[in-house]
Amino acid sequence: MNMGHEYCGVVVEVGSEVRTIKPGQFVVGSFCASDNTCPHCQFGFQSACRDMEIIGGAQAPYARVPLADGTLVATAELPDAEMIPHMLAVSDVLGTGWYGAVAANVRKGGTVVVVGDGAVGLMGVMAAQQMGAERIIAMSRHEQRSALARKFGATDIVSERGGDGVARIMDLTDGIGAESVIEAVGTQQSMDQATGVCRPGGSIGNVGVPHGINLDGFQFWLRQQRLAGGPAPVRRFLPDLMDRVLAGKIQPGLVFDQVLPIAQVAEGYKAMDERRAIKTMLLVEE
Ligand SMILES: [Zn+2]
Repeated sequence: MNMGHEYCGVVVEVGSEVRTIKPGQFVVGSFCASDNTCPHCQFGFQSACRDMEIIGGAQAPYARVPLADGTLVATAELPDAEMIPHMLAVSDVLGTGWYGAVAANVRKGGTVVVVGDGAVGLMGVMAAQQMGAERIIAMSRHEQRSALARKFGATDIVSERGGDGVARIMDLTDGIGAESVIEAVGTQQSMDQATGVCRPGGSIGNVGVPHGINLDGFQFWLRQQRLAGGPAPVRRFLPDLMDRVLAGKIQPGLVFDQVLPIAQVAEGYKAMDERRAIKTMLLVEE
């Protein structure tokens, strides 16, 4: 499969059954193609669309987007060049971090813990800030990522991990824990941290793709926590997030700390793998 499912750009051509999307429009989509009309889409879970297709091949000069009318959201005008990184971030990492915050039931005035300082975790911090959380505790031990987390609204940074990290957060919250926890890693350790700091009655938004996570049903029951998440229905949030970007309220594209021509894509992955870059943006030359 060709790589690439985060994308935005100008429509070059549309299929014969496409009704609303037009050539020349600037559009943002997500990693799931969806019709946006079936019962699951109408319920806000476009990533579970009956006709869902995973998008691939977007790291290329041109990409074909299935179900264009349902998948893509167009802007009224072509955005300025400096808006492009922010629009690209909306397409996946912000949409996913936002969903993590929604799944974690982030509320105005609430306390939020974000487990994970990758691009999605950092976007979770931004989402929690936009939703009015009063205290946002980001777990990070990476200087540059911690700095960005603070810029996006984190009020506290916890560099400890595992049991020490849990203990530190319980200290910071007077032994209560957080009502909302965004889990943006997907390992057993990160999930243990999330369940360890979530207060009874609190919610965990799990957007990190799980790798070998086991939950003890009895312990989970005993903790009285809610767990929601899964592949983010980014399409639900696209219109709102694109509006926030265009209104200058948020700058999610700051998460791209490396920009490369598409020919150097391999170096982009290497830099992210070695944690030299948080996230790489690829440019396509005309
Ligand atoms: Zn659908």
